[in-house]
Amino acid sequence: MNISKRIQSVPPSTIMELLTFAAKAKNQGKKVYHLNIGQPDIITPEGFLKAIREYKGEVLEYALSEGLPELIEAIRKYYTNYNLDFKNDEILITNGGSEALLFTMLTICDEGDNVLVPEPFYSNYFNFSKSVGVNINPITTLAENGFHLPGKEEIVSKINDKTKAILFSNPGNPTGVVYTKEELEMVADIAVEHNLWIIADEVYREFVYEGEYVSIGTLDKVKDRVIIVDSVSKRYSACGARIGSLASKNKPFMEGILKLCQARLSVPTLEQLGAIELYKTDNSYLKEVNEEYRQRRDVLYNELIKVPGVICKKPSGAFYIVAKLPVKDADHFTKWLLSDFDINGETVMPCPAEGFYQTPGLGVDEIRLAYVLNTKDLSKAATILKEGLETYLKLNK
Ligand SMILES: *Cc1c(COP(=O)(O)O)cnc(C)c1O
Repeated sequence: MNISKRIQSVPPSTIMELLTFAAKAKNQGKKVYHLNIGQPDIITPEGFLKAIREYKGEVLEYALSEGLPELIEAIRKYYTNYNLDFKNDEILITNGGSEALLFTMLTICDEGDNVLVPEPFYSNYFNFSKSVGVNINPITTLAENGFHLPGKEEIVSKINDKTKAILFSNPGNPTGVVYTKEELEMVADIAVEHNLWIIADEVYREFVYEGEYVSIGTLDKVKDRVIIVDSVSKRYSACGARIGSLASKNKPFMEGILKLCQARLSVPTLEQLGAIELYKTDNSYLKEVNEEYRQRRDVLYNELIKVPGVICKKPSGAFYIVAKLPVKDADHFTKWLLSDFDINGETVMPCPAEGFYQTPGLGVDEIRLAYVLNTKDLSKAATILKEGLETYLKLNK
C-alpha cells in the first residue's frame, strides 16, 4: 500500500527538528523565549466559556451544516463595521479559517490548476493546495520594500490558463504587511481582466497599527469574485475554538461549497454558541488588544534594527515581523541560539523563514518573529536576540 502522491508532495514540517533543539536547551535548564509560533497569549473573552458552561440541552445535536443562524447573523452585523454588506445566506461557518481555505480550494480549483500567492506566505497555503493537487505560482515580495506587492506586469506574468485565483492574507502572515487601497485596486483590476477569484484571508483584520485598513471585499468591481476567509482564532484569542467562516456574494460558489459543508455535517455546536458571545464582546476589548500588540511590535522592531545589516521595514499589521539578517543561514543561526548561546541561562527561538517561500533559495537568511509575549518578556527576548545576533556575527566573520 502507498500513500497518495498528493500527500507525498507535502513536505514534512521543518519546525519539528528545531523543536528538538529547543527541547534539548530546556533539558539543560535554559529558558527559551518562543518567538517562533503565532499562538497569542491574550485572555479569551469570558463570554465564550460562560455560554458553553450554561448550555442546557440534553442532546448535543448536529448544528445546521451552514452554521448556527445566530452566529451567522452576528458575523453579518460585525461585517457592517467594515462596510462589508453580506446577507445571511452569503456567510457559512467553518471549522476554523483552515477548513474555509481547504474547502475554497476544492470548490474553485481542479487538479493541476494553480493560484497566485504573494511569497513569503502562510505555509499552510502550500500544504492545503498541494494536498488537493493545486500548485502555487508565487509572486515574490521583498524585505527591502516591506513585502508590498510588485507592479502589475510582474504579477500578470505569473498568470497562465490554469490560474484560477489570487490568494493572500491581509494583514499578512508571516510579513505583517498591510496592503494599501492602491495595491488592492491593482489586484482587483488583475482579477477582473483575467477572470480570477480573489481569496482574501482577513483573519488579522483588527491587527492594524497605522494607516487605513481596506478589505478588498469593499471594492465594487470584484464583489462577485471575492471570497473572504475569516476566523475567531486571532481576533478573540480563541484558536482552540476552531470557528471560522467564509463570505461570498457568488451564488454558484456558495452552492458548491455548501455541498462540502453538508458532507462534513456540522461545525461543533457548543463552540458556535461560545463564538456568538465573542462577537458581542465590547469594542474596547479589540482596541486594548490592538494597543498591546502595537507596543509589542515597537519593542521588538526597535531592538532588532539596532543591529547593522538587518533589513526590515516596520510592519503595520498582524503580529509578525520578517527580517533579513546579515547571516548565511538563518536555520544555522537559530540552532546556534538554542544550543550555544544564552544570557543568564535564557535564549530565544525565532522561526527561520525559508519555509514561507516556495522559490528555492529565498528566505534562507531571514527569520520570522511572532510578538505574542507580554512586553516585559518580549523586551528581554528582543535583547537576547540582538546580542545573540551580534555575537554570532563576530564568531562567523
Ligand atoms: C491562523 C491563520 C489561519 C487560520 O487559523 P484557524 O485557527 O484555522 O482559524 C488562516 N490564515 C492565516 C494567515 C493564519 O495566520
